[in-house]
Amino acid sequence: MKPQNVGAIRVEKLVEYEEAFDPVRALPDYDPTVTAANKSWLAPHFVDYARGTLSFSFHSYIVRTGRHTILIDTCVGNDKPRPLPQWHMQRRPYLENLAKLGLGPDDIDYVMCTHLHGDHVGWNTRLDKGRWVPTFPKARYVFSKADYDHYNALKPGEHGYDSISDSVRPIVEAGQAAIVGYDFALGDDVSLYPTPGHTPGHYCVHLTSEGRQGMMTGDLMHHPIQVHRPEWSSNFCRDPNHSRRTRRKFVHDHADRDVVIFAAHFAGATAGRIVSRGDRCQFHVTP
Ligand SMILES: [Zn+2]
Repeated sequence: MKPQNVGAIRVEKLVEYEEAFDPVRALPDYDPTVTAANKSWLAPHFVDYARGTLSFSFHSYIVRTGRHTILIDTCVGNDKPRPLPQWHMQRRPYLENLAKLGLGPDDIDYVMCTHLHGDHVGWNTRLDKGRWVPTFPKARYVFSKADYDHYNALKPGEHGYDSISDSVRPIVEAGQAAIVGYDFALGDDVSLYPTPGHTPGHYCVHLTSEGRQGMMTGDLMHHPIQVHRPEWSSNFCRDPNHSRRTRRKFVHDHADRDVVIFAAHFAGATAGRIVSRGDRCQFHVTP
């Protein structure tokens, strides 16, 4: 993704890694005839037609508003024990890539996690002499209260317990967490947009500047084919029916509007707009 401007706000993508997904691993309702019929806008960034895989990216966004530097979603992280081999005890140059954008950990004012799944909270913390400490020592970390209450109640061994333990609780204990409702905002240009379903308190981050709009959509959609088929929930949704209702409404409400969509897992050019074609929609990447 090239750096994007939303009015006076600058948005850059910070990639942790990219992965080719077997489609039904991500989307249980997947139908290959649908991707075959939508090659004009899914190729080359979003589907590898030669291999029959969906292209996924794990990345953060850096949002610079002029007043604040905000990091949105923090990927998987390093040194973390995880059940998935591609997430387990990773050693990836995420902070080195942040430095290439001219930023060090001290420069981040806010960290916003759209939800508290392990691939959105990982770089919240780093390992320091055997302890998990905040990676961004000067940042306030914005967690939704509904997600925090849900994941903080998990027991050892339950799915999600690892990441709440090593990537969220140390932030709360360090006094750096803002556990918020959907009314949270940073001035006039950054606010939360409620999108529960994938997780109980999932939020999008709404950007507004100089009459332009952007929306960081987290895991409201995992892949652009869900703009065309919003009824397809992922295997990773906590409540697939609620997720489906929320996604359908979002796609309907944002079709043919001048709102740049920045999703958490769209690969390649990544940023784009929802465009209606007949009674279904497509996702057209921005130049
Ligand atoms: Zn995710």
